[in-house]
Amino acid sequence: MKISIIGTGYVGLVSGVCLASKGHNVTCYDNNDEVVDSLNSGTPTFYETGLQQMLASVLKHQKFGAKLISNGTDFDSELLIIAVGTPSKNGKINLSYIKKVSESIGKYLKLNNNFISVVVKSTVIPGTTDTVVRNVLEKFSGKRLGEFGLGMNPEFLREGNAIDDFMEPDRIILGYDDKKTLKLLKKLYEPWDCDKIFVNTRTAEMIKYANNILLATQISTTNELANIATAIEGIDIMDVMNGVYADRRWSPILNDSTRISPDILTYLVPGCGFGGSCFPKDVKALRSKSYEVGVEPKILDAILAVNESQPYQVIKLLENSLLDLNNKRIMLLGLAFKPGTDDVRESVSLKIINYLLKNKTKILAHDPIAIDNSKKVVGKNKNLEFINDWKDNLSSVDAILVATKWEEYKKLSSAKYQDELNGKVLFDIRRFFTPKDFPKSVYLTIGRSI
Ligand code: NAD
Repeated sequence: MKISIIGTGYVGLVSGVCLASKGHNVTCYDNNDEVVDSLNSGTPTFYETGLQQMLASVLKHQKFGAKLISNGTDFDSELLIIAVGTPSKNGKINLSYIKKVSESIGKYLKLNNNFISVVVKSTVIPGTTDTVVRNVLEKFSGKRLGEFGLGMNPEFLREGNAIDDFMEPDRIILGYDDKKTLKLLKKLYEPWDCDKIFVNTRTAEMIKYANNILLATQISTTNELANIATAIEGIDIMDVMNGVYADRRWSPILNDSTRISPDILTYLVPGCGFGGSCFPKDVKALRSKSYEVGVEPKILDAILAVNESQPYQVIKLLENSLLDLNNKRIMLLGLAFKPGTDDVRESVSLKIINYLLKNKTKILAHDPIAIDNSKKVVGKNKNLEFINDWKDNLSSVDAILVATKWEEYKKLSSAKYQDELNGKVLFDIRRFFTPKDFPKSVYLTIGRSI
């Protein structure tokens, strides 16, 4: 199939190269010419495991190309997929990129006599595809729905695991409002053999929000439990959670008595809150929609309130331990919102940096791949130094904060570093270690006041 994907960020590009690897002819469009040039020369504009190799392969087999979108773009495809960003603006979803792209597509539809389907892959509030997108397409094409098709295919890939998630999905949600689009969507995903769920476009849109919000609920609830346990004293929340995980409804016991430890348990680990480009904005977007339709979103309010205050739990514990943050030297390990990506959107580490800088704390910040992106967000400050090697700097700091679970930070617990860490605060923000890993340090973490 000839496919056009508009928006070549984490979702658009990964989808593009994966669909191309299955034999489709894919053209990815972006409005950023540097992105387009970079992709055509085989260099992805962000880090994702396996992406560079896959991009090289689909370019070599002439299954993939990138182009700059323009006012009169001739998309030359039977299926157009919209994958531009839908960020948060004042707590509401910002659909300006979606509208702009829909306008370009509408103009293309006007000049084209073939039946073409437009499928939204971006995360959008229920009702967006069949109202906002449809209206813009109809306005600029002069055609009615039926003369073109509409679909909604939410994406569930996780950054850091995106290629595997796309190539081996747990399910594919196919939302459609007309039979011809359903047929095209079936053809698009024919090479994938997994559960395919067929629904209308609104349901498809809502599935994505329900999915993310239930995961965010678990994170915030676990963090609140951790904060309560800290205040009660004498409890380590990880001991509590290990007792909870053993419930067979969380980790089922098979007939041969072995126990499954599902991925869902990783959302039941206390920490400094969720960040990233999806959870915060998605919860906010549905909360705003909920108010708009007259439903008070009590739980969504609570998820966000807990999450917004959780980074301050880190600061509070750090202040208690160091007594004064002013003029202290702190090493922050991990800037990406999670391991496996260089994405720092809504990264909790950057919130912690901003708070510490207000206190004139000297910060040494490290990340294996997210330093460049962090620099763009936080800018220059004489008290903030980005370092390429954390091992060289351990002896010069008062405290070390481990904020992203990069595998290389596991080395901190090796015997080699214990003398250097002697008497220093080791703040395990994400529960990457156990207290026993740092016998000579002041071990701090979320949910433990023993
Ligand atoms: P992104 O910001 O990484 O990429 C968006 C791309 O769209 C950019 O390259 C930008 O230059 C391009 N763009 C913006 N306006 C354009 C225009 N008018 N014409 C052409 N290109 C344009 O965004 P992302 O992380 O890939 O997210 C895209 C959507 O997918 C969002 O709705 C997001 O919520 C959803 N989503 C993201 C993830 C994820 O892990 N990142 C997972 C699932 C769903």
